Amino acid sequence: MSESEVSLEGLVAIVTGAGAGLGRSEAIALARAGAAVVINDLGPSDAVDDTLDQLRAVGADAAFVGGDVSERVTADALMSTAQERFGSVDIVVNNAGVVRDRMLFNMSDDDWDLVLKVHLRGHFLLSRNAAQYWRAKSKDAGAPIYGRLVNTSSEAGLLGPEGQANYGAAKAGITALTLSAARGLSRYGVRANAICPRARTSMTEGVFGAAPDGGDDPLSPEHVAELVAYLASPAAAAISGQVFVVYGPMVALMAAPTVE
Ligand code: ADP
Repeated sequence: MSESEVSLEGLVAIVTGAGAGLGRSEAIALARAGAAVVINDLGPSDAVDDTLDQLRAVGADAAFVGGDVSERVTADALMSTAQERFGSVDIVVNNAGVVRDRMLFNMSDDDWDLVLKVHLRGHFLLSRNAAQYWRAKSKDAGAPIYGRLVNTSSEAGLLGPEGQANYGAAKAGITALTLSAARGLSRYGVRANAICPRARTSMTEGVFGAAPDGGDDPLSPEHVAELVAYLASPAAAAISGQVFVVYGPMVALMAAPTVE
């Protein structure tokens, strides 16, 4: 995909969990394509500063909103910051997440609640706020306004890997949330899609083998980020209500995580 096919010039994006891993790569890919980006992570950190530096290095307008995505105030602040600083919210990428892998017989109430809260409630809050904003904007304009929602699901939501009852349940919920959003918001011009990424990040380091020495890493977060930028772009105008499993060709490297 050449950069010229994906133009997000003049659009404003929100990306959660963008201090590291996939979220950072997604924010950078959107910025490279021309979007202004409001990033979120739990709080200020060197990692967040690093992401902001990289966004500004590609010439993007960038802002940071710290806070837990499972708290409503964070979703509210992300929406208002994007509008106040950059005039709009066109693209929302829900990415922030945590894992607490445990065998079911060892899973605590907190392990369950935290993972469900951050992933599923976090996705719900910002998706809902964005839906309200896009619906109102479309009604004001008397025409569809083309909001784009990209949510982060996982094959875990379909497969239920060992030790991931909490994560799998959250991801299954995110898939359903996204499909329902796509159906219910299409009349306002909104597109919603889910990605199921296989990418090498701190969250998945126990699952995938080491990156190959030299050359292109098919499981690098940048490959997933390219898909996100495409889904957010006018080039994907006909694509909504879809779930994309992003494999590198290195499926055989996926090992069962060791979980107690
Ligand atoms: P991946 O890139 O696979 O999503 P990472 O662990 O590399 O996984 O990155 C997840 C990001 O989400 C981290 O930067 C982390 O600080 C952030 N994060 C985790 N929990 C929350 C939360 N409740 N609210 C906002 N950001 C969060």
